[in-house]
Amino acid sequence: MSNFWSSMAKRAQPYVPGEQVNDSHILKLNTNENPYPPSPNALQAMKRSADATIRLYPSPTTDDLREVIAEQHDVNKDSVFVGNGSDEVLAFAFMAFFEPLERIRFPKITYSFYPVYATLFDIPYEEVPLQEDFTINPEDYFDAEGGVIFPNPNAPTGIFLELDAIETIAQKNPNKVVIIDEAYIDFAPESFSARLKNYNNVLLIQTLSKSRALAGLRVGYAIGHPSLINGLTRMKDSFNSYTIDRVAINAATAAIKDTSYTQEITKKIVHTRSWVTKQLQELSFDVLPSQTNFVCATHATIDAKTLYEQLKKHSILIRHFNQDPIDSYIRITIGTREEMSRFISALTEIIRSA
Ligand code: PMP
Repeated sequence: MSNFWSSMAKRAQPYVPGEQVNDSHILKLNTNENPYPPSPNALQAMKRSADATIRLYPSPTTDDLREVIAEQHDVNKDSVFVGNGSDEVLAFAFMAFFEPLERIRFPKITYSFYPVYATLFDIPYEEVPLQEDFTINPEDYFDAEGGVIFPNPNAPTGIFLELDAIETIAQKNPNKVVIIDEAYIDFAPESFSARLKNYNNVLLIQTLSKSRALAGLRVGYAIGHPSLINGLTRMKDSFNSYTIDRVAINAATAAIKDTSYTQEITKKIVHTRSWVTKQLQELSFDVLPSQTNFVCATHATIDAKTLYEQLKKHSILIRHFNQDPIDSYIRITIGTREEMSRFISALTEIIRSA
């Protein structure tokens, strides 16, 4: 703490991301990155962008990129906002739609960046407990004073909430914004995007970091009613006109267009997810039903922190959240089939020698 800090800087409780390492021997199953490379078209677009045009500022409105996203979701470009990773889009959404003095609601066990933004922007919040089976009870989110936010599927549980339930939450909060963070939606049955046209109070947020294998590029986007998109744009243009650089705009546009590649790698991950789930169950884990690129599991006898530490000794990083009620669970990102075989072998050895 420094006397030079503003009250905002003093109040901040920064998010702690999963460990990032540079050692290629370490198997990283801790930050839900995609194990496959991004679309070759995206890589080519990046290389093509490395020329003298980089002396020019990028487009502040990212029209071309917004246009391809809009086409894919069957909406107009004025229903799309693009940001520097969905974390940035989330930050603008907190600023644009939530009020100090009006309590927002999100689940207790969810993406841990939400309380960080709420604290930073001085927005009061209520953490609504999940049900015993870790599902969200839609009724708990009716008539929220300040608005609602949760991921679908939820993180780190990986559990998907049916779209009818989301509709009831939207209907029961007609004067407040309901933000659905669809970071992992491509690994799940369906996005809310097809139903979005019926709601002017629902904002969907998606990312290129997961199914498009571009976490390092930092591109995320929001889809919603143009008045919500205008709200986000007002925040961006009061903060930084150029949040997406020229390379990122071109690569993201190519990645979004390459739907067949995204589908191909997503299918492989979903397939490996089923295999890993079965293997974990055979090793006496209880595995939550995931519709994401990770699984959350608890062992019958060995505690989660021990598993995390033992796997680290095998050069495998996973995530353990020291937070009730998931402190007995570990979260494992789905890698390639080969990587997951290495993970299961190490885990088998750890359990045998326990
Ligand atoms: N939402 C959720 C639920 C996440 O798990 C993540 C990834 N940590 C994000 C948003 C942010 O992703 P990004 O900023 O890479 O788009």
